[in-house]
Amino acid sequence: MNKQQDLFLAAKTALEDRGVDLNELAILVCNAQKKHNPDINEEVAMHHIISVLKKREVQHAVLTGIALDVAAEQKLLPEPLLGIIERDEGLYGVDETLAMSITGCYGSIASSNFGYFDIVKPGIIGLFNDKKAKPGEVHTYADDLICAIVAAACSRYAHRAG
Ligand code: MG
Repeated sequence: MNKQQDLFLAAKTALEDRGVDLNELAILVCNAQKKHNPDINEEVAMHHIISVLKKREVQHAVLTGIALDVAAEQKLLPEPLLGIIERDEGLYGVDETLAMSITGCYGSIASSNFGYFDIVKPGIIGLFNDKKAKPGEVHTYADDLICAIVAAACSRYAHRAG
């Protein structure tokens, strides 16, 4: 297996281990893009999700963010950073900034979709927001990462379908 394939599997597994079902991400892409192109289906949407996850910048962002969530959950980060990430403090913002390194690879459609998904929190994005409320679980980075992956896949699809 080459290094690129290793990183893809590492990022995919990191997401799945945190409870992210990639099918749920594909459903969000489908729902968001249906109004522009009714021909989209989950298989096509999944292809774009996987393609986004095959990008090196995306893999690095996913591995970094998930590692910080896990380290915070295991209380392995130093204070005051630990508390800030555990509480997902409103003014922290580094989680969004990291996630925007994903959307930055896919142009302005990805960025505007990211803002939209972050506010509306449809489907699995909302589930992750609820998960964050569970004691002991930290998904401060995960919710923004999945938001960005869906937004990037929407943009990737839109540019190829248009
Ligand atoms: Mg967050």
